Amino acid sequence: MTVTAEILAVGDELVHGALLDTNSKWIAGELEAIGLVVRRFTVAGDDPEQLRIVFAEACARADVVVATGGLGPTLDDRTRDVVAGLLGGPLWFDEPSWDHLCGWLRQRGRPVPDSNRRQAMLPPGAVPLANPVGTAPGFRVQAGLAQLFVLPGVPREMQVMLQGHVLPFVAAMPGLTPTAQLCLRVLGPSEALLGERIEPFMAPGRNPAVGITASGGLLTVRIVATAATRADAHSACAATAGELRPLLGDWLFAEGTAELPEIVVQRLARAGATLAVAESCTGGTIAARLVDIAGVSSVFRGGVVAYSNDSKRELLGVPAALLDTHGAVSEPVAAAMAQGARERFGADVAIATTGIAGPDGGSAQKPVGTVCFALARAAGVRAWTVRIPDLGRSFVRDRAVFEIWRALLREPLDA
Ligand code: ATP
Ligand code: MG
Repeated sequence: MTVTAEILAVGDELVHGALLDTNSKWIAGELEAIGLVVRRFTVAGDDPEQLRIVFAEACARADVVVATGGLGPTLDDRTRDVVAGLLGGPLWFDEPSWDHLCGWLRQRGRPVPDSNRRQAMLPPGAVPLANPVGTAPGFRVQAGLAQLFVLPGVPREMQVMLQGHVLPFVAAMPGLTPTAQLCLRVLGPSEALLGERIEPFMAPGRNPAVGITASGGLLTVRIVATAATRADAHSACAATAGELRPLLGDWLFAEGTAELPEIVVQRLARAGATLAVAESCTGGTIAARLVDIAGVSSVFRGGVVAYSNDSKRELLGVPAALLDTHGAVSEPVAAAMAQGARERFGADVAIATTGIAGPDGGSAQKPVGTVCFALARAAGVRAWTVRIPDLGRSFVRDRAVFEIWRALLREPLDA
């Protein structure tokens, strides 16, 4: 027995390509975590006829339907009318929702236009779902065989309401499929080579299921188990991970779902090492990604964006002779940048990037996409060059940043 779910995202800006539907992705993760099986996402514009079809179809197929968007006060917010039409009755006015809405607006010194009354209108049989962080309530209603939840489109409101109203309700439904997931992160082999190595685990129908996803230059082996209880599902994942680890060997560099910069920071923290960065072609991106991470101050000393030759000399102490002899994009200059940053910031480890992001500035010896890197530690400095395919400035920059994460995951970090 399974409890199936479908997710609907409503809004013209979604189908016109102006806005990416991130709500559905988030909702799916939350529903799957408590044991629902998500079968389908649908994105629809505000056209009422289209909406009617989309809502009717989803409610005829799934046990649980979660929809977001189109609950605002304006005439182009049509979700509640469409659901009322589907249920064959008029909207009704919910006094408590209206009181909440008026209180919310007045508390913020905002006027209460009459058009806001629409937001307190609910389809027949609907149970209002209070919105603690905004004006529009959501609602839950039985639609055909499905429990239909309709939430506001604003991500923060949607998230609070999913957690407060939807998850507690569906978690109590009979027939949930407890699921657990474990990710092994792999760096080194191609996807095909990794697939060969772990092929027996990837047989269709296996439980736990094992799959490979490639993203941003690294591979993730995802283990997903279903079992009678959540604890059993976790144990099953752990058992499969235990069999996979020896097959992955050195390729395995982390476990879990953390992003690369976070894994790098964890590694630095474990090694008790501090980091400084000297960036030319990456323009501060490495530093920016690092400071996204809470608690990074224990390992990150600081960085310099040294774009011109002058700043490489003055801020990092790169000798003029090196710049003249080898050019700014060269391994000796990268090495000097890293050493300069290491000394000036008093860090255990420093990294440097200098390259040609394009579209101009390439030459026969150093085409666009040529990037030199260096990593300096007490034991010495290592510099290397990568020819990144010239697929645009941001591509070259992103790959250069990735190369730095890779180096910081692979190099010894002890001081
Ligand atoms: P409001 O009262 O603000 O009008 P609403 O329920 O009508 O709320 P929408 O108007 O559909 O919601 O969306 C409000 C905003 O929320 C959008 O402009 C967009 O920024 C964001 N949003 C809506 N749907 C999504 C989605 N599926 N993914 C990500 N963001 C979304
Ligand atoms: Mg709206």
